[in-house]
Amino acid sequence: MSYSGTVTCSHCYQRGHNKRKCPQLTEEIKGRYDGATSMAGKERAAGNENDARWYDERAERYREQYLKRTKIDLATGEKVTNKAAKAARMKKVECGYCGQRGHTRRTCPAVKVDKQVFVEESRRVRIAALEAARETGIGLGSMVPIRSPGYENGEWRRDILTLRYVKSIEWESCCAYRPNLTVKHVDARKLGAPNQSPYTSQDQIAKLVQANGAALRYADAEGQDLPVSSLVPSLDPPKGWLQPTEQSLAEAIKRQFPTSGTKHNKQRGYDFAYPSGITREIIKDLGLTEHFPRENWT
Ligand SMILES: [Zn+2]
Ligand SMILES: [Zn+2]
Repeated sequence: MSYSGTVTCSHCYQRGHNKRKCPQLTEEIKGRYDGATSMAGKERAAGNENDARWYDERAERYREQYLKRTKIDLATGEKVTNKAAKAARMKKVECGYCGQRGHTRRTCPAVKVDKQVFVEESRRVRIAALEAARETGIGLGSMVPIRSPGYENGEWRRDILTLRYVKSIEWESCCAYRPNLTVKHVDARKLGAPNQSPYTSQDQIAKLVQANGAALRYADAEGQDLPVSSLVPSLDPPKGWLQPTEQSLAEAIKRQFPTSGTKHNKQRGYDFAYPSGITREIIKDLGLTEHFPRENWT
């Protein structure tokens, strides 16, 4: 913008328009398009397909530039409507999830199907996790002696005996990618401590059972008495936990299908791109095989 308030074009130095609107530059772009197109034709006629393609790409770039400036498509000579222009742009967009062209993640059919599979897989995983956990007898309020690494009298030791109190079940963390029930357990001697967090650990129930087994074997071998396990035979999930939905699994779904982060993070994961095992079974059971055309379903 000059002091008088009229713009000067940085391309042709005329006043009254800027480079973006410069009619001279627009004509030059058309000339380059024509040149590249005719060179592509010549090279192609001479059998030089690689050179022809190189000119095609140049021509395509000039066509796009010209289209942006004039809304006229040099390939057809016709004015392009906004709707047609959008359709052409959409044809080029690449889905950040499945990598196909022609749609965005928001309208991606694959991400919808994959979430459906994820929810069903989480449902089945929860049924199995609950059954396995109930067999151990460990539940909310259980007291379990274990041998595990930890501090004793201020010293780190590989193998100390503590009695653990199971203070919570981490129900919501159990889903397709985390197929085990996890609990928080605290050193029973520290139950009265105002801050229990230094004495609290989080483990899969199966791991707690292992550590309990280690304590039992050790006590048996050494002829020692062990605090008796006090198990709670019931393990009752919160309402709706065995019928998860996309809404109730929102947190897990955010982690499994992230919409932010690196390109790699946002891409469709291997489990869904190449489904196997239980995922594959579920796709079949839900009748979604047609959405995985790369797979052999026979
Ligand atoms: Zn100009
Ligand atoms: Zn997609």
